[in-house]
Amino acid sequence: MTDALNERSLIERFFKDCGARRSDVALGVGDDAALIDVPPGMQLVAKTDTLVSGVHFLPHFPAASIGHRALAVNLSDVAAMGAEPAWALLALTLPKVDAAWLAEFAAGLGALARKHNVALVGGDTTGGPLCITVQVLGYAPRPPVMLRSGGKPGDVLFVSGTPGDAGAGLAVEQGQLPNATSAAANYLRQRFLFPTPRVELGQRLRDFASACIDVSDGLLGDATKLADASGCGVVIEHEKLPISPHLTSTVGDTRAREIALTGGDDYELCFAVSPSNVEKLQRALPPAQWGYSPIGVLRAERGGAVTRNGTVMHFSHSGFDHFAR
Ligand code: ADP
Ligand code: MG
Repeated sequence: MTDALNERSLIERFFKDCGARRSDVALGVGDDAALIDVPPGMQLVAKTDTLVSGVHFLPHFPAASIGHRALAVNLSDVAAMGAEPAWALLALTLPKVDAAWLAEFAAGLGALARKHNVALVGGDTTGGPLCITVQVLGYAPRPPVMLRSGGKPGDVLFVSGTPGDAGAGLAVEQGQLPNATSAAANYLRQRFLFPTPRVELGQRLRDFASACIDVSDGLLGDATKLADASGCGVVIEHEKLPISPHLTSTVGDTRAREIALTGGDDYELCFAVSPSNVEKLQRALPPAQWGYSPIGVLRAERGGAVTRNGTVMHFSHSGFDHFAR
């Protein structure tokens, strides 16, 4: 059966009905290009991200995870804009046609797409070194309301989820944390392999946040990017970082906080809220239910800093170096 798969039958079999069905897709997979009806009065949001084998994942990682992450990283960016994802394109470069791998990959990507009502409307399939590029399109109200640049000194900074889990999960996946209990190892691995893009939270934050960024390269570095774009600086309080019990039990409290600040691949949202909006936010979106925590403030003094009991700490921003030794 594998031998019989050519480019066209492969697309037909694995990707034609992979994502959600949407009535605004006038023409999806099959013609030269897709045609989409964009809601009037909305602004189109567009993002693309590439995962390269050996750089962003290893070829032996579960194919379902590779499919999930290829879409998730894009959904996370769209979420950070407070936008609603709707359509995706998939450019797939494959070293060989492996039907079992493709079925798993498509299942991983398709499940996440359907969860967020995203239709896969097209793409490209080529032979070559394993590489996956997904593009997500969606829409946001005009004018845009939640950019990186809207923060002001005094705004409270929040982060969703428990950063650091994914960075440690990658280390687990690579056999670098052999002392983790199997419960902790499973939890951390899942957090790396199947990150949860905060799509609904992003849209709900439009009414409250002054600025937002998604955390993909380490919380401290990304929070500093938000602050830079807003023309200010940021202070994160070490003791306020939300750390998962499994991360602490695996690497200890100090190291857990270090990984939370500098590890990558979290795909959480980091957002700023003006003091006058904080109570409204917490009433409308109860933190325990929506899973986010205050971690610091924006301030006039530029740059990113971490304080512990009021004293400034020093950190390198290099997440992956932590596991390189
Ligand atoms: P062409 O015949 O113009 O080269 P393609 O063979 O590249 O067209 O693509 C045929 C159709 O299949 C197009 O609608 C394209 O968008 C879609 N497509 C190709 N590869 C994929 C993929 N990996 N996932 C989803 N759709 C794809
Ligand atoms: Mg083509």
